[in-house]
Amino acid sequence: MSRPLMSPAADQRGAPSTDTLALVASLWFALACNLSFWHEVLSGRDATAPATWLFAGALFVALVAVHFLLLGLVLHRAWAKPLLGLLLVATAFAVHYTQKFNVYLDPSMLRNVLRTDVKEASELFTWSMAPHLLFYAVLPLLLLWWVPIRRRRWPGALARRIGWLLLAAALGVGAVMAVFQDFGSLMRNRKELRYLITPANYLYSLGRVAVADTRSAAKPREPLGTDARPGAAWAARSKPTLFVFVLGETARAANWGLSGYARQTTPQLAEVPGLINFKDVSACGTNTETSVPCLFSPWGRRQYDEDRIRGSQGLLHVLDHAGLGTFWRDNQSGCKGVCDGLPNERLATTASALCDGERCLDEALLRDLDAPLVAASATAASAAQGLPKAVTDSRVVVLHMLGNHGPAYYKRYPASFRRFEPTCDTPDLRQCEIPQIVNTYDNALLYTDHVLARTIDWLKARQDRYDTALIYVSDHGESLGENRLFLHGVPYAIAPKEQTQVPMVAWFSPGFADSRRLDLGCVQARAAQPASHDHLFHSLLGLMDVKTAVREPAMDLFAPCRR
Ligand SMILES: [Zn+2]
Repeated sequence: MSRPLMSPAADQRGAPSTDTLALVASLWFALACNLSFWHEVLSGRDATAPATWLFAGALFVALVAVHFLLLGLVLHRAWAKPLLGLLLVATAFAVHYTQKFNVYLDPSMLRNVLRTDVKEASELFTWSMAPHLLFYAVLPLLLLWWVPIRRRRWPGALARRIGWLLLAAALGVGAVMAVFQDFGSLMRNRKELRYLITPANYLYSLGRVAVADTRSAAKPREPLGTDARPGAAWAARSKPTLFVFVLGETARAANWGLSGYARQTTPQLAEVPGLINFKDVSACGTNTETSVPCLFSPWGRRQYDEDRIRGSQGLLHVLDHAGLGTFWRDNQSGCKGVCDGLPNERLATTASALCDGERCLDEALLRDLDAPLVAASATAASAAQGLPKAVTDSRVVVLHMLGNHGPAYYKRYPASFRRFEPTCDTPDLRQCEIPQIVNTYDNALLYTDHVLARTIDWLKARQDRYDTALIYVSDHGESLGENRLFLHGVPYAIAPKEQTQVPMVAWFSPGFADSRRLDLGCVQARAAQPASHDHLFHSLLGLMDVKTAVREPAMDLFAPCRR
């Protein structure tokens, strides 16, 4: 397609202005890019009732007006094409994920998308997206590239633009007012629907995340629990403690064998004597970016304040203040700030049979762990002065798994764990039947079960030198086709329980249980009651016997079981 050769004057005749381009783009967004929004707001309404048509018509005018206002404020002839082009491509992807996975692009989801590493993102690109991208990106781009834009003198152009913007604002407000009762109740009851309005959703969320990040980047994290000191009982302990906290990924309680799933997805853990399974645990968020900082904070979901949580130190810093060494080993997308300034390492993805150059299987988390562990003493030099050796030699290790990270579940386990078949051996879940997807997901859980059992073996082998213990908890769950939902990240308030209920297990060596006077029968009974991520901060400080004003004993799951 080549541009017709014409004189500049002829080129201008009949060519659309930047205003017209903004209007056409707004119509395109309102009509073609908001099918999920239209589906949600119109579902359950009578298609033959005039009120439905009035409502739909008013919403349509409002949608066009909103996007026209957004575009009208920033578009200028000089950069109209590159900016619109970028917007069209980004919107094509947004529409794809909104429609395919019922994703709501709110600020927390967008943060999750922005922090996703290249390897995770690459698993989301599949060839089956090609027809979608052709229609939503390539065709509009060709049209945009081909059409000339009329040149206008600026005083007139500015006056016109202001006139158009005022008209759009008036029409938008008028349309909403016309159906206000209906619209108002819809927005009150289903606030999340606004995050389906594309591309306004991701543009708004991008702005929110950018503002929050600049604000938090400008100041260092608020110190937390600087009063933390080891409890008096440490003076009498002969051995240091080695505590492993395994942070799982995307494992959901519904498919967890130990919690009553029809399939045994946890055969190895089921054989571990004294293992404690918490049956009813809710996560703080439905994505890694929310859950990880939240579960290392003292406030959790019950006092959720994202800015406060992100702006503050967390559990590992409090342990460090008490003189206990911490070490974070990552096989995923990093510690999300909760190990800032503390010893941590990301697994190298080369030089092992467990890694393929891109990713490592989770067993690699245990490889050569002793040396970095011993080196990871507390950074708080002042706290380490005069502390018992049992304290300064103790370590709290966080192993951050890749777990059941989707959609490429089939890449999360070695061939020997391909036990439930047939599997879905592609990241493009649409090419598979739901039972295949579930089989693949369950195989990945079998492998997590194996890695946890191996970690307990690893701890047992160090019992002569340490009092050892392990807690495993997943960061959030996953949808596997229930209500047409896949993956995770639905806004917390409306998230299905598949995404919020997670597995959690605890294992304590006899030495650890004795040194804490833990009544394991009591812990078993507590494990049948509801618990949540909110308990972890306080429970780990309790188990590590750390005294600080920020620990709330009432939130410690194990406090009632210490004799
Ligand atoms: Zn996650």
